[in-house]
Amino acid sequence: MPEIFNFSAGPAVLPKEVLKTAADEMLDYKGTGQCVMEMSHRSKEYQAIIDECEALLREVMSVPENYKVLFLQGGASSQFAMLPLNLMNKSGKADFVITGQWAKKAYDEAARYGDCKIIASSKDKTFSYIPTLDKSEFRADADYFHICLNNTIFGTKFSKLPETGNVPLIADASSCILSEPIDVSEFGVIYAGAQKNMGPAGLTVVIIREDLIGNARDYTPTMFDYKIHAENGSMYNTPPTYGIYMLKLVLEWVKNKGGLTAMKEHNVKKAAVLYDYLDGSKMFSATVSGDDRSLMNVPFVTGNEELDKKFIKEAKEQGFINLGGHRSVGGMRASIYNAMPTEGVVKLVDFMRKFEENN
Ligand SMILES: *Cc1c(COP(=O)(O)O)cnc(C)c1O
Repeated sequence: MPEIFNFSAGPAVLPKEVLKTAADEMLDYKGTGQCVMEMSHRSKEYQAIIDECEALLREVMSVPENYKVLFLQGGASSQFAMLPLNLMNKSGKADFVITGQWAKKAYDEAARYGDCKIIASSKDKTFSYIPTLDKSEFRADADYFHICLNNTIFGTKFSKLPETGNVPLIADASSCILSEPIDVSEFGVIYAGAQKNMGPAGLTVVIIREDLIGNARDYTPTMFDYKIHAENGSMYNTPPTYGIYMLKLVLEWVKNKGGLTAMKEHNVKKAAVLYDYLDGSKMFSATVSGDDRSLMNVPFVTGNEELDKKFIKEAKEQGFINLGGHRSVGGMRASIYNAMPTEGVVKLVDFMRKFEENN
């Protein structure tokens, strides 16, 4: 069997070292005689794990003191509803930039609860770019302004943040969190499903400025109220215990590699290997150009659906798996999260060159 390189968009590749540690600790976590999955979340052993995970996330992301870190369930998709229920509490308005399917879902869900405005959209060109924003369209009395920082499906990312003034900027960072440094203080809330760059599915991380907590609508389900989770240290009910443990291991790995600055360096270099090849290829082309290109998700096409299929099939036989584009767009997509080694992309490009010669 060839060596496997997993280009899945999510759940996605995790660092081998992390999986190895998890395997070593599977049957007996540090002499407790238990697997972390079997532990009471109220035990002192487990409390140490969640505390360490939060401390590492705060350190690695330089999270300011006036932000809470919440470890929740329900995926990034539940945040699409939690945000309006908790934050749409003054004017009942929120502004959105539609840069893809996830941004649209966040908008659609929030629109059930209040007055939502689309400031700009890149739907006209299949979300292949980040639209220019006209600041005069922003509503000064909006309760929040929502963006999807990195568009997992279409492979674009914001390289410059919208200037929203006093309106809290909210970012879905599911597919780019931990991939490069970000200034948390620019945001009201940053949220992410863990299964792209942080750990296994089932854990959702929310980083929220404290003043945005505590104003949920009175009909908000208890489990959807940020205040409940903040007051209970993410232990109002059973948190996703194993996912939090895995995130702790991933954060240790990120820290040991040199933190987010080193991650960015690694990711920029790795993505350039693929983009440079795509820009020079006569067969393959990237669907996104310029500054809007994602470092994490790289969609590309041959322009011929049959050839795309042939490529995906032959790539799989060579160990390059999960290269199919999202079911809504087709083509190919290489997701190259933190845990994808540069070697995986170099080998993929070698294979693409050969495929191009032979076809
Ligand atoms: C994967 C993804 C989601 C959906 O996450 P779930 O955890 O499955 O709800 C939302 N937004 C972005 C940007 C994603 O990449």
